[in-house]
Amino acid sequence: MQDVHTDAVEPAIAPKLLAWYRREGRALPWRAPPGTLQDPYKVWLSEIMLQQTTVKTVTPRFIDFMRRWPDVNALARAELGDVLAAWAGLGYYARARNLHACARAVSEEHGGRLPDTEEALRALPGIGAYTSAAIAAIAFGRRASPVDGNIERVIARLFAIETPLPAAKPQIKALAAQLTPKTHAGDFAQAMMDLGAMICTPRKPACGLCPVRPSCRGFAAGLAEQLPYKAAKAERPTRRGTAFVAIREDGAVLLRERPPKGLLGGMLETPSTPWEEGPQSEAAREHAPLAASWKKLPGSVSHTFTHFHLELTVLRAEILRDVELLAAADPARCRWLGQRDLAGAALPTVMRKVLAHALDERRVASKMRDAKTPASAAPRRANRRSA
Ligand code: SF4
Repeated sequence: MQDVHTDAVEPAIAPKLLAWYRREGRALPWRAPPGTLQDPYKVWLSEIMLQQTTVKTVTPRFIDFMRRWPDVNALARAELGDVLAAWAGLGYYARARNLHACARAVSEEHGGRLPDTEEALRALPGIGAYTSAAIAAIAFGRRASPVDGNIERVIARLFAIETPLPAAKPQIKALAAQLTPKTHAGDFAQAMMDLGAMICTPRKPACGLCPVRPSCRGFAAGLAEQLPYKAAKAERPTRRGTAFVAIREDGAVLLRERPPKGLLGGMLETPSTPWEEGPQSEAAREHAPLAASWKKLPGSVSHTFTHFHLELTVLRAEILRDVELLAAADPARCRWLGQRDLAGAALPTVMRKVLAHALDERRVASKMRDAKTPASAAPRRANRRSA
């Protein structure tokens, strides 16, 4: 077993977990083998991507980012719009904006090298307590203890903490710090991450396979599946709005760039009303980006953000080229985009849903029109066959 220096509350846990990590740890594209320090850029990029997002979703995106921007200076030189487009679909877009701002700060103020202490890392855009501890431990070997939701769950179970979250957070953080060994802190952090992802899972933890089961008080108390307890959450409010999908005769769609700060900042959207709680506003059509015959589509588009649920009514209009945009659309932020370019555009998931709703309905309506075409107007080939 590895020589592990610890003054931990449960000295048996760290060595067992490290030995298990060497045998069973996940091989991930941003990881170096156990026992070695990792590229700080890869650790930072992967940790930002993994916030609120699964390893399965992140893996191809991480590989794509590394191919486009192989180091922090390359990312600093990138256009924000390109970074947002590469991020599209991962959600929580403030992460992408901060990633870009952080790359610029590292490039300009730290000579292109991420700083090696938690304190200096935390001063950078988008790097909080968890990410700074993860980078400090995994990339620089510092004794730091990242605690995210997975690690919270593992610690709450290991120590049978019955105080519900979030009140239990300070206690959990203190225990995580005490459990962290003086050496191999990076491997220990990753071992905790892997234990939470593979064995000590939210539902049905595989205690029979767990390397630290003999030390686990939650298991001994028969509470493994129930912990951690959580305080009841307030229900998410519902906001409503109307999205306008204008399709030009050449198939291009009208899009608008959102303001740089705030929800989905800098991303593209179809021009829309503000999103507000309460019933849908009667005056929604006053927000239309151009004068046209707007058709309300059946159904609506739903999307859930962290703090609210959104219901969007979709209005669509087919228009001619060179139509003038109204002041309500804020024309300076608008642009027309061909449908082939939509896939690579910086469109958040909610707007992809809106476009799919509008464009799918258009295809169905067009098929129905074709099906209703009277026999006299049917194509000449059909006439020839019947002749
Ligand atoms: Fe989690 Fe079970 Fe292991 Fe305890 S014994 S840490 S509950 S998997």
